[in-house]
Amino acid sequence: MPSYRIPSDDRVRASLVRVFSTRQIVDSQRRLKALVEKDMKGDERYRVGEPRLRLLAIDSGLVDLEINCRDTDEMRSLIKCPVCGARLKKVRNMTVFGGTVTLGYRCERCKYWTGLKRRVPTRYVFTRRA
Ligand SMILES: [Zn+2]
Repeated sequence: MPSYRIPSDDRVRASLVRVFSTRQIVDSQRRLKALVEKDMKGDERYRVGEPRLRLLAIDSGLVDLEINCRDTDEMRSLIKCPVCGARLKKVRNMTVFGGTVTLGYRCERCKYWTGLKRRVPTRYVFTRRA
């Protein structure tokens, strides 16, 4: 039975730098996980969870994240970002009656956005920043 170690944040960040030093774009989260785990592999094997890797990539400042979503008919208020867990901001508009109406939500950390009908993230594309 192979055993796996959980790498530290620093170790994953260093690996992200190496991975993106040789490529411009990684077009899925699963692929990024495979590349990072391969990069870290030495005498020991490492495992990094996809949501954790996504967060470290977002906060690294190294890449731009493109979030592909599918539309749903689900109408539910959202508080936390489904991509990065940050608190979402409401997107509001003035009404002709002088009040405001919520049009949707957006995340300032990772740029996820949705209308009132929820957009569900399905794929992530990571592009190295120029
Ligand atoms: Zn977010």
